[in-house]
Amino acid sequence: MRVLLVEDDELFGSGLKAGLGQRGFAVDWVRDGVAAERELLTRQYEAAVLDLGLPRQDGMAVLRAARAADVATPILVLTARDAVQARITALDCGADDYLVKPVDLGELAARLRALTRRAHGVSVARLTLSAISLDPATRQVWRGEQLVELSPREFELLRVFMLNADRVLTRERLEQHLYNWGSEVSSNALEVHVHNLRKKLGAELIETVRGVGYVARK
Ligand code: CA
Repeated sequence: MRVLLVEDDELFGSGLKAGLGQRGFAVDWVRDGVAAERELLTRQYEAAVLDLGLPRQDGMAVLRAARAADVATPILVLTARDAVQARITALDCGADDYLVKPVDLGELAARLRALTRRAHGVSVARLTLSAISLDPATRQVWRGEQLVELSPREFELLRVFMLNADRVLTRERLEQHLYNWGSEVSSNALEVHVHNLRKKLGAELIETVRGVGYVARK
């Protein structure tokens, strides 16, 4: 799951990035409000974690700008313990959820999973697609009764396919989900992952749409 993290505190930000990374999130981290607005408006994230007190432009202005530009990305706001009014204002400005600092990483990860489920109109935690089921919390995948071992990137790709069943996904969009900034993306990496998913989960699971990308069929 590709997430934007907006936090100007180096120590806190690096803790969040590392903790979310360990829990299977691909995290892009920016440290000020102007960069945050630019990223939200130009890249597709599945969710964003937004600190309110930021240099150059505060988090509330970022929220307003993103929602005014019809950015639908679920946004979770980080606030101080006593900042009740800030939380109310943030929710009214289009935030989807909030957490009070200091943040428990397990809780933050669970809330981000819940936000993305809701954004896709899915209310149950476990995803299913024909005989395949996937649990985002435990990161386990079954084919029928059989537990299947997937690499982190295969898992991420499968999760995106399952959330978007019957929708054609472009190569570009799928690659965005798989990589952080700066990581080298070899030109056939996506094909290799799709090949492995078909081998492990059944050739019929993912169809190739020539010249466009892929689609998982219900
Ligand atoms: Ca701050």
